[in-house]
Amino acid sequence: MNADCIFCKIISGAIPAKNIYEDADFIAFHDIKPMAKVHFLIVPKLHVATLQDCNSTHQKLLGNMLLLAPKLAADQGLKGFKTLINTGREGGQEVLHIHMHVFGSGL
Ligand code: AMP
Repeated sequence: MNADCIFCKIISGAIPAKNIYEDADFIAFHDIKPMAKVHFLIVPKLHVATLQDCNSTHQKLLGNMLLLAPKLAADQGLKGFKTLINTGREGGQEVLHIHMHVFGSGL
């Protein structure tokens, strides 16, 4: 938990979001500025800033984050989807709490 992190505030419930999934390790919610017909974020509850801050201790978490994508995409009615993990300011990451974008057209 990082008091200055907007995703930590969503995880704690201090800021509302359009949640689509939650378990002990992850939350997923619709992006506030969707760039596709379906655009949601899968966010680990553990505050890790970027993929560059991950190491072997995060292996299971990262694997489980990937495995959630097809499950949640199917829940959203998608038959296929794109994923994106922006990493670091140079990588276009605005929110420094690791997350995966999932985009789908629903076609
Ligand atoms: P990134 O550039 O990979 O860090 O993406 C951060 C994403 O978080 C952007 O697509 C934002 O639109 C999204 N975002 C920021 N604040 C919120 C929020 N309160 N609820 C939902 N999505 C958000």
